Amino acid sequence: QTISISEAQEIIKNNLDYTLFSWSKQKGLSPIAVKYAKGVYLYDYDGKRYIDFSSGLMNVNIGHGDQRVTDAVVKQMQQVSYVTPACATKVRGDLGKKIAEISPGNLTKTLFTIGGAEAIENAIKMARLYTGKHKIIARYRAFHGASYGAMTAGGDPRKLASDAQQMPNVIHVEDPYCYRCPWGKEITSCSRECVSHIERVIQFEGPENIAALLMEGESGSSGCIKYPADYLQKVRALCDKYNILLIADEVMSGLGRTGNWFGIDTHGVVPDIIATAKGLTSGYLPFGALIVSDKIAAHFDDNVLWLGLTYSAHATCCAAALEVLNIYEEDNLIENAETMGKYIEAEVEKLMAKHPSIGDFRNTGLLGCIELVKNRATKEPMAPFNAKPDQMTIMNKVAAKLKELGMYTFVRWNYIFIAPPLCISKEEIDEGLSIISEALQIADEYVSR
Ligand code: PLP
Repeated sequence: QTISISEAQEIIKNNLDYTLFSWSKQKGLSPIAVKYAKGVYLYDYDGKRYIDFSSGLMNVNIGHGDQRVTDAVVKQMQQVSYVTPACATKVRGDLGKKIAEISPGNLTKTLFTIGGAEAIENAIKMARLYTGKHKIIARYRAFHGASYGAMTAGGDPRKLASDAQQMPNVIHVEDPYCYRCPWGKEITSCSRECVSHIERVIQFEGPENIAALLMEGESGSSGCIKYPADYLQKVRALCDKYNILLIADEVMSGLGRTGNWFGIDTHGVVPDIIATAKGLTSGYLPFGALIVSDKIAAHFDDNVLWLGLTYSAHATCCAAALEVLNIYEEDNLIENAETMGKYIEAEVEKLMAKHPSIGDFRNTGLLGCIELVKNRATKEPMAPFNAKPDQMTIMNKVAAKLKELGMYTFVRWNYIFIAPPLCISKEEIDEGLSIISEALQIADEYVSR
């Protein structure tokens, strides 16, 4: 006897039986089967609506289902979908020009990649080729992608499972994690030990061996750890002092997410290289970019650029990106990110008064995360930073509740991310925050007073 199962169940079954899901044990997964998506919402086959409070993986910045991008992509495909990166296309040149216009300082030339990790890999290679030096300094609480080099550069504990094969010559430094300052200081009275620590590491490692310092333009999946106001400026000064390149990883923080074109713009700092992806095409197609200063670009006028990818400057992806960049401007999305970010900050402040499980909330534009604790005085996290998925019992319960109540968002370790599409309205924010408030009742039960 055949058992009839609904369309949605069959889709989920095929997904689970024939495909693998990232970062999880495969048993016991229950993904949402998304039938369609529009604006800030995902819809499943049973007609249930989920508010997308993390813009997918903080990439669908313009929102879902925008016909303008589909039209631009189709039009490009009718003309030329793909040619090798050795050929020139109109759309590639137009996009390069547009990126030069929105990039800070003298960052004028772009190498296109397929996603964020490849942008980081190529940024590291380019820094090494340009400087002739080999070491890269990066932060422990950062994620730069899941390929070997990018993963090594990050400090995210997900890399520990593949620890034996890490890329050589990456050195990590502590984060300016003010909520849990590694030096036990307070932001108002400290001497920026987080910066002098980096300088000591530079001296120990030998500035003559260090090609670049790699930092997210604004911290993302490691917990939106906000840089103290003058931190990146001091880091830039260190780079200048020791002749080290500054690479800003703007894969998550770039393209309007923080209320500026790039996260680093908020700090008034110009890096030597920007690596970006995600919001560049808003997830409509996979794409990434590496934007370099005219000085670095000029170096490769006379030296071979030993970098390349089959799909570099993919014409269809370029068309999607160009349209997405226009949409940011047409719809004033970057301004909206800033305004809505301030609104969220005020509203989460009210939630903090209600929910003792909220230890901290850190936000820039629409890149924010709530950090949950078991006790505000001891700051014991609701799940440890290196927790495996099945050690996140309380957080998993919170995540399940969010889903049940009609929210999709990124929940990991003791963080709940609030990073909705930049087109979100106040009413939609209210809807999302009331769902979070209800789910937080679960976490509150685990708070020791
Ligand atoms: N860099 C940062 C800051 C990221 O957040 C991510 C992905 O989340 C990456 C790099 C890697 O990007 P991708 O997943 O497109 O390879």
